[in-house]
Amino acid sequence: MNILVMKDSFWDEPTIRYVGRTRTGLRLGNPWCEKYSRQARYFVETKQEAIDNYREWLHKKIIKDYILGVPTIAFDKWEVGYLTQVIVLARDIQSNRVLSLGCWCVTTLNYEPVPDGQEKCHAEILYKACLQLIDHWKKQDLLAARKNANE
Ligand SMILES: [Zn+2]
Repeated sequence: MNILVMKDSFWDEPTIRYVGRTRTGLRLGNPWCEKYSRQARYFVETKQEAIDNYREWLHKKIIKDYILGVPTIAFDKWEVGYLTQVIVLARDIQSNRVLSLGCWCVTTLNYEPVPDGQEKCHAEILYKACLQLIDHWKKQDLLAARKNANE
């Protein structure tokens, strides 16, 4: 996976998925922000805090609950929308339709997940969440295949 700083020519490239906030919506952007942004939901003091809060929320709440099968009624409405978009992104990564994530922070080609706390951009946390989903789906498929074989 590449993580790229967006530039003009990237917007029309189908294998690059922009994951920042937009003028009209949060989409896959970080709901926490250290600067004023109309689309952010929460304001914090530093970028590190924004990244830490995002990791905590996305990995320990949204993705964890989804994998555990917690009904989405337990989520806020905007969280359900966010989860839905993460699932779409993870499916696109799984099928190689998306090869790069675009944001505004830093370009890293052939990005491999780093330990928690060392991320420079929320896209790295988002990518790790997608890998967790892909892993979860693979395990589910394996269980289903075993079940079919035993029937
Ligand atoms: Zn970023």
